[in-house]
Amino acid sequence: MKGVILTGTHEVQVREIPDAEIQQSTDVLMRVTSTAICGTDLHFYDGRMPYNGHLIGHEPLGVVEEVGSAVHSLRKGDRIVVPTHICCGFCPNCTRGFSGSCLTTHPGAAGAAYGYPNQGDYAGAQTELLRIPFADANAMKLPGEPGDGWEHDFVMLADIFPTGYHATELAEVGRGDSVAIFGAGPVGLMTAYSALLRGAASVFVVDCIPERLRVAESLGAIPIDYRIEDPVKQIMEYRKKQRMDNAYRDEHVMDGVMCGIDAVGFQARSRGDYSKDDPNWIIASLAQLVNPTGRIAIIGVFPPKDPMGVDPAEQTGHLTVPWATFFNKGINVGFGRDQDKRYDIMLRNMIVEGRAKPGQIVSHRLPLTDAPDAFRRFNARENGYVKVVLDPFQK
Ligand SMILES: [Zn+2]
Ligand SMILES: [Zn+2]
Repeated sequence: MKGVILTGTHEVQVREIPDAEIQQSTDVLMRVTSTAICGTDLHFYDGRMPYNGHLIGHEPLGVVEEVGSAVHSLRKGDRIVVPTHICCGFCPNCTRGFSGSCLTTHPGAAGAAYGYPNQGDYAGAQTELLRIPFADANAMKLPGEPGDGWEHDFVMLADIFPTGYHATELAEVGRGDSVAIFGAGPVGLMTAYSALLRGAASVFVVDCIPERLRVAESLGAIPIDYRIEDPVKQIMEYRKKQRMDNAYRDEHVMDGVMCGIDAVGFQARSRGDYSKDDPNWIIASLAQLVNPTGRIAIIGVFPPKDPMGVDPAEQTGHLTVPWATFFNKGINVGFGRDQDKRYDIMLRNMIVEGRAKPGQIVSHRLPLTDAPDAFRRFNARENGYVKVVLDPFQK
């Protein structure tokens, strides 16, 4: 089979590798029909997270090719999607609804994933055949046929749609809320989309890449280009205008937003110089922007260590955080990876019933063999490369 191997910094290769096989009786083999490139893959690609020449990727959609003898609920030919975070379904964390922190699939740690050498060493999903461990717990069955009108909607269920939804859950986005999302990458866009599905009144998306901001706007969000002016100031002025100065009672103290979300993480580019990192400005902006009694969610990735970090604290996993502001405003802060299993059936049903169309953010569908070029262009945020789906069968 073919697979996308991370061979060095800024280098992936499509190689012929041995076929994936059933290893445990609880496995199935998935024949992959779509497999997406994620912003998280770029942290490895940039050499900012550890890699070991592994098969990359964690966002697959496909059909069951072969079924282990102990699998109950799946048959050859079933269309399935699996979450990025591999769960067992029976451990104390899985049974409490924390499938992203499974205790079984990466012994000695909490949480496993495809294509991350530091999360259980499971093979990545940018390939033709993928081994799915604990298949009854992980695979979600889907209607339709490969290549139908749902293909791109369903592949978003592997990671970014539930991850975006999880961000809105952490930030407790509700009807009538105001929401600011920093980052218009695929996860930021899915977060904006989820906030609107949950009935938020105004959703701002902050970025500096015109194509991404245009997609945010097409989803119904208000695009904020941080190159024009301080995004905090832009959003507060917008909110003040909507309030029509003194039309509301004493609400000027709440000219920020109720919910703030960091969908960028540790590799945030500096506001003043896009070629440099600045991991602190987004958190500082959120602290300024979020109203008293508001909520903040951190869904962008922060690795335990970042040896190439721009400041010494960051290199050991520390950030400068305006703690006093959070305390005095009474802000709740939520962190961490998606707990996929809480959301996947609900989000699937919204797609099937026509209430959600997450695949609309896909900008490119390319053959798997185009992965090296696709990684380079996606990493450069080039030419509208918003979300790339690879097709193992397209020549
Ligand atoms: Zn992903
Ligand atoms: Zn578990």
